Amino acid sequence: MSECLFCQILAGDVPSIRIAETERAVAFMDIYPAAPGHALVVPRLHVEDALAAADEDLAACMALAARVGRAAESQLGATGITYLSLARPDAGQTVFHLHVHVIPRVAGDEFVFPWAPAAGDPAEIEGHAARLRAAL
Ligand SMILES: [Zn+2]
Repeated sequence: MSECLFCQILAGDVPSIRIAETERAVAFMDIYPAAPGHALVVPRLHVEDALAAADEDLAACMALAARVGRAAESQLGATGITYLSLARPDAGQTVFHLHVHVIPRVAGDEFVFPWAPAAGDPAEIEGHAARLRAAL
């Protein structure tokens, strides 16, 4: 049996509450919800994170995540959706199988952003953009 929790869930070796499936992706409920209706979307193929994933799996996961978000709006009363995907331990990733959190939101809920937006240094932003652009 795989040591990966989400591969175990996909194989049916660990129970989950599935809500949708496609050829490449599966959505199931997060049993440690950040908000009511919190779901996860994972690719069927094991891949550690978004940095390692094929474009097709990224596209399939985000498309299914959007469908789940629309269902949360129409069925659960969400008035917004926070999508999150963590890559690598330093970003807070704890299950090393790519997953997209779909977190239904409403005005005034208790979800807390991990940063307070503040204007950055324009020169520093330009410098980072140049280095990223060169690699893309
Ligand atoms: Zn896996």
